[in-house]
Amino acid sequence: MTEDTLRSVNPATGELLAEWPIDDEASVTATVERARVVASFWRELGFDGRKQALLRWASYLVRNTDELTELIHKENGKPAEDAYLELMLVLEHIDWAAKNAKRALAPKRVSPGPFMANHEAVVEHPPLGVVGVIGPWNYPIYTPTGSVAYALAAGNTVVFKPSEYTTSIGVWYARSFALANPQLPGGILTAVTGFGATGAALVTSGVDKIAFTGSTPTGKRIMAAAAETLTPVLLECGGKDAAIVAHDADVSAAADAIAWAAMANSGQTCVGTERVYVDETVYDRFLAELKSKLDNLKPGSGADASYGPMTMPKQIDLVREHIADALERGGRALVGGLESVGDRFIGPVVLIDTPEDSRAVTEETFGPTLTVRKVKSVDEAVELTNASEFGLASTVFSKSHGMEIGRRLRVGATSINAPLSFGAISALPFGGTGASGIGRIHGEEGLREFTRTHSFARQRFAIPGMALLSFGRKASTVAVIRRVIGLKHGRHS
Ligand code: NAD
Repeated sequence: MTEDTLRSVNPATGELLAEWPIDDEASVTATVERARVVASFWRELGFDGRKQALLRWASYLVRNTDELTELIHKENGKPAEDAYLELMLVLEHIDWAAKNAKRALAPKRVSPGPFMANHEAVVEHPPLGVVGVIGPWNYPIYTPTGSVAYALAAGNTVVFKPSEYTTSIGVWYARSFALANPQLPGGILTAVTGFGATGAALVTSGVDKIAFTGSTPTGKRIMAAAAETLTPVLLECGGKDAAIVAHDADVSAAADAIAWAAMANSGQTCVGTERVYVDETVYDRFLAELKSKLDNLKPGSGADASYGPMTMPKQIDLVREHIADALERGGRALVGGLESVGDRFIGPVVLIDTPEDSRAVTEETFGPTLTVRKVKSVDEAVELTNASEFGLASTVFSKSHGMEIGRRLRVGATSINAPLSFGAISALPFGGTGASGIGRIHGEEGLREFTRTHSFARQRFAIPGMALLSFGRKASTVAVIRRVIGLKHGRHS
């Protein structure tokens, strides 16, 4: 190993998988320049041509499913079946973006209003040019696809910087687009590899937008760096998502959904449930159901594992600190405890009676842990949910008031009576508020994020004597306008 390379290791075993070069400022800039050269070709290909290329990419991914899911299993650590589910979501998003971009981004005629009636007014959404995408490791193909597929479908070329923990997956993913489309020039989707400095170089490389998914502190650094050149940013950052279990919830279904939303992927899910607020009337029943769902969960890397290792070794210490802090401050472990934290794997941990200002409640833990608190009412649950600086997503369990409760939450998405389902519906915009980020991926909003809005006002014919925006304007014209304005705007008291 040299300092110029990045080592990719299997988080379950520590085995070295690959070494990758570290792209510096010069090589990142060169890659962005190549992406800019091919950007006009890609834009001119039009929606139909891009749709075909994206669909060919999806089919290539399907044909190579086993190779890709095995690579995700090895480098990220998650079970191969979870990797397959991630791929399924990727395919759905590529398909949706490819098939909906033309309709969602079609030029739109708007009313010119009475004073500009001789104009045609049109809003268009051309692509930005080159988009820089910076990704995390927890869903190494799903999270970038929310930006990559939508940016490509909108007509941009993309330079992708995968996480240093999932570089092999990121490189495979970017190359697969070219392999699926050998007739197209290279550079439409390219990966650059390295640590944070490579991501930082991408931010200042002259790209037309940065789409970042990762932690809130990194998001803030990226926004500050992008401010220098007013490069727009889309930030998909961390969360501390809560679930609310109301008095009329199906308690068993809620426990089943929350067990999965909290522990799947070893809790390394931005929208994973980390806090639960349960109505006092169903609290004991919920705890019993939750415990029974978690008792048989087993982290590991074999075929029977419920979830895999912690992908990023340094996160293990943070999870341990959160559990210790909660226990020191009066919390109790209903399931697991400090002993659940191993060298690479962490067993499920449920903490109860944890003070609301403890780290396990206020900070993103990003491990297979959960705090559960008894509340007197939905009002209290809503208040505590909204007390977080984060506002990514949430889940509500209630047979008849789900939407009502959900509307009171200051978050970007809410799933009702099911875990995290908003992320699997391509047409639904996805993104957070507060410390969870800025902007939206997925759906029509996700396509528009990668365009600029261009307004056209085309004069179709001149109205003699009615020129307002001219030094030749007549006083009689203004007198007519004053009368019309009075009738239009001056009648309300
Ligand atoms: P991270 O912030 O450590 O790194 C994310 C990416 O940013 C990596 O590729 C990294 O190399 C790069 N980076 C680091 N410093 C940089 C800098 N100064 N400039 C530019 N790029 C830089 O995050 P992570 O540990 O990889 O991912 C976990 C985090 O991601 C969690 O907080 C999780 O909640 C969040 N996440 C959010 C979403 C979402 O959609 N909101 C989805 C998945 C993960």
